[in-house]
Amino acid sequence: MRSSALILTAAVLAAPCPAADSPTADPEIRDLVAAISPERIQRSVYVLTSFKTRHTLSDPLASGDGIGGAASWVRAEFERASKDAGGRLRVERDTFEQPPAPPRIPQAASLTNIVATLPGTDPDPSARTLVVSAHYDSRATNPLDVTGAAPGADDDASGVAAVLELAHVLSRHKFAATIVFLAVAGEEQALNGSTHWAKAARERSADIEAMLDNDIIGSSRAEDGSVDRGSVRLFAQGVPPEAAPDDHLLDLIRNGGENDTPPRELARAIREVAAAYVPSLKVRVIYRADRYLRGGDHLPFLERGYPAVRFTEPAEDFRRQHQDVRVENGVAYGDTPDHLDFGYVADVARVNAATLAVLAKAPAPPRGVQIEAARLENDTTLRWDAVPDGNLAGYRIVWRETTAPYWEHAMEVPKDVTRATVTGVSKDNVVFGVEAFDAAGHSSPAVFPAARRTL
Ligand SMILES: [Zn+2]
Repeated sequence: MRSSALILTAAVLAAPCPAADSPTADPEIRDLVAAISPERIQRSVYVLTSFKTRHTLSDPLASGDGIGGAASWVRAEFERASKDAGGRLRVERDTFEQPPAPPRIPQAASLTNIVATLPGTDPDPSARTLVVSAHYDSRATNPLDVTGAAPGADDDASGVAAVLELAHVLSRHKFAATIVFLAVAGEEQALNGSTHWAKAARERSADIEAMLDNDIIGSSRAEDGSVDRGSVRLFAQGVPPEAAPDDHLLDLIRNGGENDTPPRELARAIREVAAAYVPSLKVRVIYRADRYLRGGDHLPFLERGYPAVRFTEPAEDFRRQHQDVRVENGVAYGDTPDHLDFGYVADVARVNAATLAVLAKAPAPPRGVQIEAARLENDTTLRWDAVPDGNLAGYRIVWRETTAPYWEHAMEVPKDVTRATVTGVSKDNVVFGVEAFDAAGHSSPAVFPAARRTL
């Protein structure tokens, strides 16, 4: 019978219909965004680039000027952030034996990720987790050159400095979800550190709701000298290149959901948060896992089914990346800190801070979201499992033209409703999603509905 859906429709239509791209601004989040310091970020970048190289296979000694020294410093910085916040971060070395992986890892090597965890206030031991990551290793022109200078300022001291700053600022606040601040090694060799951590997370069935990779976020100046301080690229994968898609993925592909994979819904949510809290920085969402010829630490997370996205500056200067420090025909090569824009790095860190805070406060994204497709009709009925969260205030059904990149319409439904009909809008013509939000307006990313073929 349609009666329950019709009744719900009346309730739905009585609810306000906020613009999808204007989440309620939270004063606490405004404050923590403002607390992000370009000066502390600059200091971190200069310290990281003072090690001669941070090549993954360079000097492992903590007292040396290779990766071991850098790892010790990153760990000490996390510890300092924790101490300043009353010991709220759990700081660990995640050391593992990397088997030989020619050509970039010729012999077995001991690699170390540095991990700082801010436990969520959610008492559920399987609490959902957000990860923000960067890589502290660097490289010169030859990927196996373990002694040549490799300052790696933009790639990726900029990202590590942002992650340290996020740990410093966010650890003074409380969030429902757990936040993991990750500084990984081995990115330049073959994403070894992030692969190790993501694999272990999958093996313990960690509920990672979002992974934000910050890699090359340091410069606003392009190779041609033009400057863009007003945007950051956000790479978001669509349909994963899997040989054997599972039923869920096949359903998504069959029903026009290829732009509504979890990483793309996450990217839309980040763009909305940035518009509300960091309006000076436009998030340019790119429907692609990464740039041509390049990869990053978000990929091992994507391969394990976690929503992961990558922040990168608007236009890279390739003379500055993966290059020996030198001057050739009057052109400077090498990834030195003098070409970075620390105010710009701070703005990218602010987008990360606001995103992590909103998502860590928001209810979890609804599960079991379905669109009823058991008969031919011109209305649209959606259903979902109730989100068990004491702060839940309701759900928001969002939709847009199938050719539009971002949500265009929204309709809120009360928290005790788990099935609602949108009258006069046909699922055949638009893309729908369902979000959960709390009383302060923190929203989860949207979830694309699976087709439900029975009533
Ligand atoms: Zn990198």
